[in-house]
Amino acid sequence: MKYIYMDNASTTSISDVVLEEMMPYLKENYANPSSLYTLGQKSRAALENSRIKIAKSLGVKAKEIYFTSCATESNNWILNGIVTKEKNHIITSKIEHPAIIETCKFLEKKGIEITFLNVDRNGFVDLEELNNSIKENTALVSIMYANNEIGVVEPIEEIEKICHNKKIPFHTDAVQALGNIKLNLKDRNISAMSFSGHKIRAPKGVGILYLSENLNIENFMHGGAQERRKRAGTENLASIVGLSKAFTDAQENVEKNSKNTLELREYMLDKLLEIEGVSLNGSREKRLPGNINISIENIKEQMLVPFLDSFGICISQGSACSAGSLEKSHVLKALGLSEEKLKNPLRISINYENTYEEADFVIEKLKNGIKKLNR
Ligand code: PLP
Repeated sequence: MKYIYMDNASTTSISDVVLEEMMPYLKENYANPSSLYTLGQKSRAALENSRIKIAKSLGVKAKEIYFTSCATESNNWILNGIVTKEKNHIITSKIEHPAIIETCKFLEKKGIEITFLNVDRNGFVDLEELNNSIKENTALVSIMYANNEIGVVEPIEEIEKICHNKKIPFHTDAVQALGNIKLNLKDRNISAMSFSGHKIRAPKGVGILYLSENLNIENFMHGGAQERRKRAGTENLASIVGLSKAFTDAQENVEKNSKNTLELREYMLDKLLEIEGVSLNGSREKRLPGNINISIENIKEQMLVPFLDSFGICISQGSACSAGSLEKSHVLKALGLSEEKLKNPLRISINYENTYEEADFVIEKLKNGIKKLNR
């Protein structure tokens, strides 16, 4: 069966150019970057080159880029690593990815105070509440750049300003923003940022934590001297090389790719909103170009995704992490949606490779499905 893949917020395929760059490091140049002989030093050079390319693209120093196993690790590291006896309060939002929410809940059990900020109906963090929540003992503010379910882009520059004025470090989970929004941290006031490879056409199992040199946090992984003694573990070299290629490609092509994706998104969205009982969740204007998140009323619960799957259409109800569970989305709940609207959400996340032909096919099958599953 030919698949139509519209779940790019969940993961992406490795691009041909990324795979090509990785191959030598899986076969011929397999030596450990910590080994002193020539083959090892070739690996070391590839590792440091990858770091330099990413840092340059992001407008930061190479020594501020740390490779991790995924964005979940990057998020765990910053949250766990920043709290101390005195600085024991973290501010985040109610719509963060579970990699932030669950880590905060874990820390809460250990006595760390967590403030989960509200969002408005469009999905934007309450800036006044943020300003009022900052205290003497606040260690960090962590607000995602763009949401993985509803694609809403948060007012990052305003959040940054508030944190800078109050001298509080600001971390942002930029997993979904990368490749959709051009990111440059030069002259910005962001202390830490998390990224994931597999959302930008690099392999799964590799991520980044950007850590400003001004920020000192505890190590998360203990062991060898890798990553300037801050993150132990033999480096996942081939994936890091692939991530570096995917990262720079994503940044360089962001305008062209976003424009094409946005046009197709708007085409689909106009058609979807004509269907009775369909409504958009989150702001239409300030959202990622490839994201559609709709609620469909008056249809049988949890049946639409398998219906679409029978035609080879890959679309999720919400985040991949909560897929399959009957629990309602914490993001949609935070928007204050009605019970009916919480029952059947659908997240369509397209990219520049999707076509109008695919879009028409998906819309036709969706219309059929909604009719068939009417309750
Ligand atoms: N943060 C956001 C916003 C995400 O969308 C995801 C993945 O879904 C993650 C973090 C976790 O990324 P990873 O799969 O690399 O751990």
